[in-house]
Amino acid sequence: MALRDEYDLDNLTNETERMVFDAIEAELAVDQKGEICRCEDCILDVAALALNNVSPMYRVSLLGRLYAGSADETRYADKVRQAVHSAIEKIKANPSHG
Ligand SMILES: [Zn+2]
Repeated sequence: MALRDEYDLDNLTNETERMVFDAIEAELAVDQKGEICRCEDCILDVAALALNNVSPMYRVSLLGRLYAGSADETRYADKVRQAVHSAIEKIKANPSHG
């Protein structure tokens, strides 16, 4: 029997993914001039680029956030924001839409 059938993998959540999308939202919110393309191609590419540039942080949703409120979490959140910011700059210079 396969492990994935026996255990509920939905409880394994990618914390980084949530943080990356939060950071993208924050950048879009301050983009008053609309310089960031909001089409799906560009936004998902920004997310993929950012996610590939930070080490992942998974957690088990039942246990809550592993590093909530700690200095580690603050440092990690900074890294995520930086990765999102540079991903946005890259996609802005070289948009993903056809
Ligand atoms: Zn686009």
